[in-house]
Amino acid sequence: MRICELFQSRKPVVSCEIFPPKHDYPVETIFDTLAALSELRPDYISVTYGAGGSSCARSVQIASKVKNDYGVETLAHLTCVGADCRTTDEVLEQLQRENIENVLALRGDLPPEIPCGHGEEYHEYAKDLIAHIRERHNFCIAAAAYPEGHPKCPSLAQDRERLKQKVTAGADFLITQLFFDNRLFYDMLDQLAKIGIHCPVTVGVMPVLNAAQIRRMTELCGASIPNKLTDLLNRYGNSPADMEKAGIDYACAQIVDLVEHGVDGIHLYTMNKPRQTARI
Ligand code: FAD
Repeated sequence: MRICELFQSRKPVVSCEIFPPKHDYPVETIFDTLAALSELRPDYISVTYGAGGSSCARSVQIASKVKNDYGVETLAHLTCVGADCRTTDEVLEQLQRENIENVLALRGDLPPEIPCGHGEEYHEYAKDLIAHIRERHNFCIAAAAYPEGHPKCPSLAQDRERLKQKVTAGADFLITQLFFDNRLFYDMLDQLAKIGIHCPVTVGVMPVLNAAQIRRMTELCGASIPNKLTDLLNRYGNSPADMEKAGIDYACAQIVDLVEHGVDGIHLYTMNKPRQTARI
């Protein structure tokens, strides 16, 4: 099923994100996680993709397993940085053969030591990948949105205009980067309405289960940490069980408020942790 159709029949659409195991672990190590998450019957499970294609085979294999073995709709992430169009087309054809109908089209970030290709046979931005998929393939397409703006974008207004380019190029719905203050998201929705973006927007929610990890992640993606959460990190950062409980409570409070505001979708960044996801 195309995920964009789900938004017409339920609110919120509830989904989960998982990532393939690292290469030194067998792919089977994710199967228990998949089984546990499938039992929660999310509307779909998304599977991340290593920029530059590092996890390509595993991402496709896991997305296929979600859909074809566990019977849960899937959204396959796909990045364009460092991949030429032929390689991108091959992955898309593979996804189609596996019966996968939904793609989250991203640029991705290559580590600085890996050179990324330039020129006509490469897509520079997600909007170019989206236009390519729309023109040559038949997928429901999602794109990434940044309530606080993409960290490399010079202004919020420019970030919103670039988001609009992705929707104009063919994105059917959006999934947000993590954030910890819902007001940022509500402000973003107002800004999008003003510039004519009316597609469904799903909120990406990251439960804080580990203080060090969340500090690292927010530094990378540019998300701000509100005082209320800083207090929790300071209080429980050295006590993993308490941190986990406080993080789950924080995520639940965030989600309750979002649902009360009538958001289109909630997307849980599960970090491959089904027990904590089930509690939320
Ligand atoms: P784009 O929309 O192309 O934006 C990238 C940068 O280019 C931004 O700074 C933007 O402002 C700028 N830009 C865009 N258009 C133009 C233009 N016309 N002219 C000049 N500058 C422009 N990464 C992975 O590697 N694998 C994943 O599976 C993955 N999953 C993700 C899932 C979600 C929900 C989100 C929010 C992010 C995910 N990421 C993933 C991270 C993502 O790849 C990075 O945030 C990346 O830096 C930007 O990707 P994008 O698709 O938003 O790129």
